[in-house]
Amino acid sequence: MSNDMKEKQEQAMLRRMADMLRTGATMLTETCPECKVPLFRLKTGEVICPSCNRRVYIVKEGEEVKVMGSFVMAELERTLYSKLRDLDMALRGEKDPDKMYELSRAIIACLEALERIRKLQSSSG
Ligand SMILES: [Zn+2]
Repeated sequence: MSNDMKEKQEQAMLRRMADMLRTGATMLTETCPECKVPLFRLKTGEVICPSCNRRVYIVKEGEEVKVMGSFVMAELERTLYSKLRDLDMALRGEKDPDKMYELSRAIIACLEALERIRKLQSSSG
């Protein structure tokens, strides 16, 4: 990327930051997992990265705060669905009860993960 382009992107980011602050957004101590710039919480509760201009999810696990990009979540959701399809195919052809049990557990784990993703998406806005 040329320096000129980089500068233009930075200017666009600073402009977005200023716009967000003007509308009552607050700057957070957490940073974007992709570009490491501080995140902003809008009045609506949405957390946005001013650099990639995307929504970010903040997950609190005890004291630890994890920042996950919405793109990460979308990817994960896709992966889980494709795994579910594989597991379903495997389960159809399986006759061994032990293996069927194992496959069922894997399916449940995928479903639980999908449910958590959905909860996370609804809780952050
Ligand atoms: Zn970012």
